[in-house]
Amino acid sequence: MLYDTVPGGAGHVQRIAERLPDVLDRALGRVRNCECGPETSCYRCLRVFRNERYHEQLRRGVAADVLGRLLGKTDHAPAGALRISLSDVHPALTATRRFLVSEAPGEVFEPVASGQLDLYEGRVVLASRDGKAAVGRLWLRRDAHGIVGAGLQQRAGAPLDGEADGLAVIGVAVL
Ligand SMILES: [Zn+2]
Repeated sequence: MLYDTVPGGAGHVQRIAERLPDVLDRALGRVRNCECGPETSCYRCLRVFRNERYHEQLRRGVAADVLGRLLGKTDHAPAGALRISLSDVHPALTATRRFLVSEAPGEVFEPVASGQLDLYEGRVVLASRDGKAAVGRLWLRRDAHGIVGAGLQQRAGAPLDGEADGLAVIGVAVL
């Protein structure tokens, strides 16, 4: 239930009612794309001084799920997200915002800085090697000197297993 706290009302509720789909859509964008973790909340998404008592219970990921279902947008990608196909992947490809991979429906990827493979061990990634690309869970093989092998438990795309050096992670699936 929505009500105005100003005596007599300031007309906000009526304006919200008139533009409810827009309001919900903007709210969804806010809770989906905030910089805080989906299992928490902050003053840019759900927290205001007035709900201070509940701050620890407010989780923007749950709010995004509810709003997404209400609006029939259960895909948790930002509206208008970049969509990449494995065949589009080339060495110079850099994503600057979240993106989708056509061959991996249901996953939303975040661009990553190349180099630090161990940060993404065990995560679902979009990676490339020698101009070939794949989506899958990243595995690493180590010896006494460090990481010597890397590849993907592939879900889609070409096999990328080989030396750690040649493997480039382009994006990691958002948890
Ligand atoms: Zn937030």
